[in-house]
Amino acid sequence: MTRLSVLAAAAGILITAGCITAGCAPAAAPPAPYDLVVANGRVMDPESGLDGVRHLGIRGGTIEVVSESPLAGARVIDAAGRVVSPGFIDLHEHGQQEESYRMMVRDGVTSAFELEVGTADVAAWYAARAAGQIVNYGVSAGHIPARMKVLGDPGKGLLPAGIGGSGVADEKQMAEMEAILREGLAQGAVAAGFGSAYTPGAPMSEIERMFRVAAAGGASAHIHMRGGLKGLQETIAAAGAAKVPLHIVHVNSSSDSEIEAFLAAIKAARDAGQDVTTEAYPYGAGMTEIQSALFDDWKRWPDARFAQHQLVSTGERLTRATFEKARAAGGTVIIHSRSEEQTRAAIASPLAMIASDGFIENGRGHPRTSGTYAKVLGKYVRDEKVVALMDAIRRMTLDPAKRLEARTPMMAKKGRIKAGADADLTIFDPATVIDRATYEDATIPSQGIPYVIVGGALIVDGGNVTAARPGRAIRAPISARSN
Ligand SMILES: [Zn+2]
Repeated sequence: MTRLSVLAAAAGILITAGCITAGCAPAAAPPAPYDLVVANGRVMDPESGLDGVRHLGIRGGTIEVVSESPLAGARVIDAAGRVVSPGFIDLHEHGQQEESYRMMVRDGVTSAFELEVGTADVAAWYAARAAGQIVNYGVSAGHIPARMKVLGDPGKGLLPAGIGGSGVADEKQMAEMEAILREGLAQGAVAAGFGSAYTPGAPMSEIERMFRVAAAGGASAHIHMRGGLKGLQETIAAAGAAKVPLHIVHVNSSSDSEIEAFLAAIKAARDAGQDVTTEAYPYGAGMTEIQSALFDDWKRWPDARFAQHQLVSTGERLTRATFEKARAAGGTVIIHSRSEEQTRAAIASPLAMIASDGFIENGRGHPRTSGTYAKVLGKYVRDEKVVALMDAIRRMTLDPAKRLEARTPMMAKKGRIKAGADADLTIFDPATVIDRATYEDATIPSQGIPYVIVGGALIVDGGNVTAARPGRAIRAPISARSN
């Protein structure tokens, strides 16, 4: 007999005894306890506006009931004094492997998407993860990797290190890129990914042409754009012409000192009826590959600029000489370039979803991988009060779910707490939640997030990552034209 059936039998005895005194039909089947109950928590649901103490009954990976009275469960988590939120949905996470997932879940993430860069082989990307992961995962069909493949880029990382970024595509190559994107969407990619900043050889006409492929597939276009405010206007115009839903990734780093103008331009486009969304991460430094096109002008930099760059593999700040060496060798670099005021303005904006842009490998990476969500909740919500708690939760859960759900109906069951929703939940202590990862050590987990649940299974239990691997592929319906 399983533990569950022992409990069910015990519950049956109680019901039978209750029926005798209440005079109800003794033949009624006893209700089985829920697989998992989250009791006494402050349940916050950004879709309905619910903010009150409730009990959640979870069975088979689904929230079956949101109750004002206590429930019986095979396992009961007492969430008294804690917030029970939909699990955090990260639309921008490059670390799609166990090491990164282990850090993200301690920060409350339950679904992680690689949408900016994406992949040129969507079927293989999902197949590589099909054995089960800690979190739910999904990917875009990516223009950057399609371009790298078609033009023959020498880069071994995520980004072009040569011709895939700087080269100009001819008509045949353009058609090949379109075919790769089309096939990726047919294989169930949840979006289309772009990085015009990393592909300076691609004119806006090429970007717009690929936007049209995304639009035909009903996919949103997630882009790391180039060219500051003028570039933003061109990107919005191209998306408008192609009729594609547009998502500007990391508005904080793409705008730099122009953050207010960026947010105003995005709001103006939205007010005019265009589907434009954005996201931000709460750090003043970025991180990228040192061989990427972002640094093609490094020889013309003043000496002082090199010290803003911190090599991820060693933590050292660079000089002209060490930068040259590192660029030849490859790897990732952290760029310290923005003021706290710029970061705060992005996080304060109700337009910006929260997304980490995280990546960690062999213990080295950017602290945003491990601390993005706890930092927003601890520093910007609790300590500085620049964001209301429900607004922050909306931008971590419901808004990212809605960004994807038109093409990927599975997302309509995420980002909400209600009967019938997926049991992806993050339980945190609003008084103590905070990030602890640093630029020198990105592997220090966030604190104050004791329980995280994916598909009804505890992946963080008492602050520790469990052995459960309930994370499933999040994928758009696969269409007939796919192989
Ligand atoms: Zn990124």
